[in-house]
Amino acid sequence: MDLSKWMTRAIEENAKWQDSFAPFSPHSSMEVEDDAFSDVFQDFTKRLGKNYPFFHPSYAGHMVRPPHFAATVGYLATMLINPNNHAFDGGPATVEMEKEVVARLSAMFGFDASLGHLTTSGTIANLEALYVARELRPGRGVAFSEEAHFTHSRMCRVLGLEGHTVSADRRGRMDVEALEKLLRTQQIGTVVLTAGTTGLGAVDPIHEVLALRERYDIRIHVDAAYGGFFTLLKGLDNAEAVPPEPWLAVSQCDSVVVDPHKHGLQPYGCGAVLFNDPDVDRFYAHDSPYTYCAAAEFNPGETSLECSRSGAAAAALWLTFQVLPPTPSGLGRVLAAGRRAALDWSARIASSEVLELYQEPELDIVTYFPVVRPASMKLIDQTSARMLENGAKGTDPVFLSTLKVPSGALTGRHSGVVADASEARIIRSVLMKPEFEHFIPRLHDRVETLASSQTGFS
Ligand SMILES: *Cc1c(COP(=O)(O)O)cnc(C)c1O
Repeated sequence: MDLSKWMTRAIEENAKWQDSFAPFSPHSSMEVEDDAFSDVFQDFTKRLGKNYPFFHPSYAGHMVRPPHFAATVGYLATMLINPNNHAFDGGPATVEMEKEVVARLSAMFGFDASLGHLTTSGTIANLEALYVARELRPGRGVAFSEEAHFTHSRMCRVLGLEGHTVSADRRGRMDVEALEKLLRTQQIGTVVLTAGTTGLGAVDPIHEVLALRERYDIRIHVDAAYGGFFTLLKGLDNAEAVPPEPWLAVSQCDSVVVDPHKHGLQPYGCGAVLFNDPDVDRFYAHDSPYTYCAAAEFNPGETSLECSRSGAAAAALWLTFQVLPPTPSGLGRVLAAGRRAALDWSARIASSEVLELYQEPELDIVTYFPVVRPASMKLIDQTSARMLENGAKGTDPVFLSTLKVPSGALTGRHSGVVADASEARIIRSVLMKPEFEHFIPRLHDRVETLASSQTGFS
């Protein structure tokens, strides 16, 4: 796709639309000379060049990638108008688009008459779900696994709720027995389950916890900020399929969060919270003297904790869903390629002499560490850190990220490792670009070479 062609079209369409209104002159206070702009722009692009190449498959680190072409065109075209999805009169076109994309996200998780909206981030989306949970289970705590995103305990503090950490099993999934022990104390009102942990991509046993709801009065919130779109791979008849049970159970949970700005190919500023029961909109009740002028229309701001929200974010997701819908044959194909890459690479690492697989990937996050002698946590930590630093140097760079793991988690998976430290950094690669599928042989060679050259020093 030719980005400059469609960006030019977007700018032309915007100019045509503007020309349909009475002419006026731009104010001199905002004028900038072309020459002056040229200088600052040069400096600006030079500064942007300091970024890591998130677009390239040699960047195999954090969950970062540029948006899809359609998202970029949709966002920039709408940003020229800059609608605000707080209220219908702030963005009459993009409020409609938001309703449509939220309906598609709800359908993807199997929610029927649901309520939901886009948010600025997964963190805010989770805050909203926990806020509603607090109103419905006042005075009772929130349980989440030790592998849950760090913002859950932070948001519990914000909401004045007590957060309880539940241990994880050898695959990084919530230990259901430990959870049940905690539920017996009657202190817990809400359980947060993670469908795709940020560190390892582990999916908590949602179906097993759902069964506990028959015995305990709990709400279940699913944090699928990173993993949510992998529901499109459930029950497929191929190697990259994910086990369907936890994903099917999501439809019975009370709320779910998914971040289109992660696997939905969107620019940052696009999370989503969905509630199974539309009646929870009562917890958002408020009035505003200066908004909601178009009285009869639906206002997403009336069911959201945030006020201003980007209409461009809704438009970008809408346009993306027109070409890559959240279905197995649409966006699902993009995720399947990353998942195949993760399976391929983890198999190569498992038979490598210089790299060791930390655990089998459940989604598209591969975790591994260099084989060092002696096999001690301290040496694994130092060598991983050196790989990160030295990988980014030279003419054929490779960009990785590290994950801190506690000694019990590492030695529990790899009994030969000596626990001479309380934690160690290992290496974590999120394969969230479909291009990885064909780049893994090269990436693996490069990372093996990198590991050998580091361990040579040790
Ligand atoms: C990324 C992530 C979050 C936080 O979302 P932001 O959009 O970064 O605020 C929360 N939970 C999980 C599981 C995540 O992966």
